[in-house]
Amino acid sequence: MLSERDLFFRHLAQTSEAPLALEIQRAEGIFLFDVSGKSYLDLISGISVSNVGHRHPHVLRAINSQLDLYLHLMVYGEYIQSPQVQLAQKLASILPAELQSCYFVNSGSEAIEGALKLAKRYTGRSGICSFKNAYHGSSHGALSVMGNESFKQAFRPLLPDIHFLEINNKADINRIDENTACVVIEPIQGEAGVISVTTEFLSSLRIRCNETGTLLIFDEIQSGFGRTGKMFAFEHFGVIPDILTLAKAMGGGMPIGTFISSPAIMNSLSCSPVLGHITTFGGHPVSCAAAIASVEVLLNEKLIESVSEKEALFLNLLGNHPLVKEFRSRGLLIALEMENFETNKRVIDIAIRNGVIVDWFLFNPKSMRIAPPLTITLREIETACDLLRASMDEVLQTS
Ligand code: PMP
Repeated sequence: MLSERDLFFRHLAQTSEAPLALEIQRAEGIFLFDVSGKSYLDLISGISVSNVGHRHPHVLRAINSQLDLYLHLMVYGEYIQSPQVQLAQKLASILPAELQSCYFVNSGSEAIEGALKLAKRYTGRSGICSFKNAYHGSSHGALSVMGNESFKQAFRPLLPDIHFLEINNKADINRIDENTACVVIEPIQGEAGVISVTTEFLSSLRIRCNETGTLLIFDEIQSGFGRTGKMFAFEHFGVIPDILTLAKAMGGGMPIGTFISSPAIMNSLSCSPVLGHITTFGGHPVSCAAAIASVEVLLNEKLIESVSEKEALFLNLLGNHPLVKEFRSRGLLIALEMENFETNKRVIDIAIRNGVIVDWFLFNPKSMRIAPPLTITLREIETACDLLRASMDEVLQTS
């Protein structure tokens, strides 16, 4: 009889020649447990998803309560569904006055698709500015604004009229003009390996967008929901976008995303044409219930307040290891830069064998990704860093 491992390789579409292929049976808090009972400390949160940890009891309770009422009822936007209304109100309560209208979707990529369409529809323009090394998702529109050639060249033609600027290069801002519908930017680039914009650059971008009537879109799909030490990364800079995209950690482990704007901008999706964006499952009631609970956990457990102390502990325990060439962090989004990918990969493989899950960044393979659940305790960080240092020592000794 074929094992589930065999069946995984036979019947599940593969996306690389070397999937991690850990066979996980159960997850709880910051831990994953495989079929042999081995435990792993999850230092990547399923790529910045499990900010409140795996299976947080408050999130599970909210999911269970919703299961007793209804699952899918109708495509997005037609019925008044309490979980959607309550979630939109909750997000509005933690966002500035400019961002009070939510469109709920299924994923980060779909949030980006919706945001780009909204900007084109609202401005009547087609130009889009994005940034080198930006990651916004894998669907055609999101891929078009991806700032990495090798991941997209096989899928051309993509959207026309896309212009790539360089982050923190002030001269590039002048390439935004009256034909530009929107500028899409991650205030803190994730897959580039935790690269932050400067406040000055983001402010200049805001000013230029105002001058040219261009909409400014922030992609906080990876940086949102406390990851960087604020509920949203844009709070570090004091610059407010016209459209905000969120997903990943939003649902506390359930799939959901959103693009958020003002009612005035968002209303353009309801006419010429009507139904400017359509989604069947967007804002699924169970995902919305989980998302409300997840925001409540972040607020009630004061998790965001705990981030900077935890970040400092990681720096203290890992920053001085001889293999670490650079330690970059914004809250609990951390990159340990190594000499090259080979070194990084060797450390990662040993770390996983030692029971700590880390990986690299898509566009920065020589940097190790550390992005644990925000619920991780100081004691657990010490344990994880002991294991990571031992993994790095092993590579140092054998190189
Ligand atoms: N934007 C950013 C900044 C992301 O990190 C990601 C996912 N890594 C996405 C968009 C796409 O999200 P999804 O995979 O849910 O489509």
